[in-house]
Amino acid sequence: MCGIVAYIGQREAYPIILKGLKRLEYRGYDSAGVALLNGSLRVYKKKGKVAALEESLVGKAVHAHAGIGHTRWATHGEPSDRNAHPHLSASGKLAMIHNGIIENYAQLKSDLQKKGYEFKSDTDTEVLLNFIEDIHINNGGNLEEAIRIALRRVVGAYVIVVLDQDHPDTLIAARKGSPLVIGVGKDEHFLASDASPIIEYTKEVVYVNDYELAILKPDELVLKNLGNDKLTPFIQKLDLELAAIEKGGYDSFMLKEIFEQPHTIYDCLRGRLDATAGTITMSGVQSCMQYLKEANRILIIACGTSWHAGLVAEYIIEELCRIPVEVEYASEFRYRNPIINKGDIIIAVSQSGETADTLVAIEKAKEQGAIIFGILNVVGSSIARASHAGAYTHAGPEIGVASTKAFTAQLVVLTMVALKLSNERGTIDQKRYLHLLNELQQIPDKVATVLQQNEHISALAEKYKDARDFLYLGRGYNFPIALEGALKLKEISYIHAEGYPAAEMKHGPIALVDEKLPVVFVATRDSYHEKIVSNIQEIKARKGKVVAVISEGDDVIEGMADDVIKVPEADEIVAPLLSVIPLQLLSYHIGMAKDLDVDKPRNLAKSVTVE
Ligand code: GLU
Repeated sequence: MCGIVAYIGQREAYPIILKGLKRLEYRGYDSAGVALLNGSLRVYKKKGKVAALEESLVGKAVHAHAGIGHTRWATHGEPSDRNAHPHLSASGKLAMIHNGIIENYAQLKSDLQKKGYEFKSDTDTEVLLNFIEDIHINNGGNLEEAIRIALRRVVGAYVIVVLDQDHPDTLIAARKGSPLVIGVGKDEHFLASDASPIIEYTKEVVYVNDYELAILKPDELVLKNLGNDKLTPFIQKLDLELAAIEKGGYDSFMLKEIFEQPHTIYDCLRGRLDATAGTITMSGVQSCMQYLKEANRILIIACGTSWHAGLVAEYIIEELCRIPVEVEYASEFRYRNPIINKGDIIIAVSQSGETADTLVAIEKAKEQGAIIFGILNVVGSSIARASHAGAYTHAGPEIGVASTKAFTAQLVVLTMVALKLSNERGTIDQKRYLHLLNELQQIPDKVATVLQQNEHISALAEKYKDARDFLYLGRGYNFPIALEGALKLKEISYIHAEGYPAAEMKHGPIALVDEKLPVVFVATRDSYHEKIVSNIQEIKARKGKVVAVISEGDDVIEGMADDVIKVPEADEIVAPLLSVIPLQLLSYHIGMAKDLDVDKPRNLAKSVTVE
């Protein structure tokens, strides 16, 4: 995920692009850069925020009427000046910005290297650009056609914008899977990832669809499909506030990020899981497969929500891989004298990759000879650099302080690691392995179905928002989800909530139950189902209010509970990816009903870089 802005027209391009990049910075801030065309191409780029780029450009030649700009959220190659966009082609004549992931970049890169191409960055973007240039050189110089041919061969997601030194009056853009808006002005055109950089100049916009190519001159907009057929651009008039656009029309980043999950989970699976071929491709896992296969023990180290993802993974890895797993709070692990044995693997899980306690904990384990595998959202983060190997979650920047989409992406990565490892170790039979691959592949669509219950969950929030306490109960794979649901509620609504294993509640928390206490059961249909039905009875017998997250068609629990939220049927290994969604929404709606700032809950910070 990244932000792109481009301009062609009569005005100075640089100030428009710079302002636009600042508005898009929420999409990524690993680096920023611009390419400006005034006779020749001038490319300026800088690691860090847009402000760093701006500062570095004071006094530099920025006069131009055409330009492209990018704020990056790295997926391929660490955040650095070198990997920042725009990239220049080998000839130096084409400049390009890109938002997305080119999945078959490795193959394309090696083909180009055989032809003598050299690469200045580690990005997939530079590979695509030189692939386009290579076709361009060989097809008699028709850039538009070269882009079309290249994009038909590309696997993955992209928005690209290309600026050609030899055609200073034209910008060519294309999209598949990432967002792109064109702003239509008088003798000028704008391009951006969302309308926020455009809206102060024109309210007339065209939303570009997948597999479409836009050829923009100051006074002309041509839209085509990849088959070179002309399309009629559908120009809409925007009637939106700036802040609403940045949040994609949602009232908060938290809600936007909850609703992004079908996409983020898909992005996390994309290029890795192939249910038809029965394969999981994860180069980080492969690179330390021998250690993983022979591991005597796996230690998962994390904090907060990531710790809950680790707890689900403990159940999954032990079940599928038959390797003992321990899940540790990083802050505890680092200060005690933990026993690390030869052959132990540490999996460090962190959204930001900067969590101070987790970083120190893995450094300590490393000193004692452990192999560190990082599961992180932020490319090039401190924990990524300190790990021997790892896998990114590709969830995009998470702005809401309470983690939602990063959690489900962590779970997806951990589940894929478990599946791949169990297959290599031979601890899973082929039928079950293929079944689970299939189940995982269906998750994005099933999450989208759960999100359709938003209104219903909002009504439940109204009903229960004044409760003083909540109890969240679950068993098996859903026990950590009960913990996560309780944590989300505490963070967002400031209501006291406890998560417990459903059977364990008899050893204490049941004393809290009365007619005022809402008890949220995470009770999707699984091998613990009958047991949790009994636990629900126990709460009902004491007049507690039961809100149950259940599988569709579960009439038994529906008949007992005060309220239910239904999620699609799924194998118990992947069910937590569905059952957590209603709990995120419930905490969000209760927070909103109490008029709280759900994006910035009091006393909390997004990335805990202090111990
Ligand atoms: N894959 C590209 C990169 O790593 C683009 C990432 C983005 O969308 O920001 O540079």
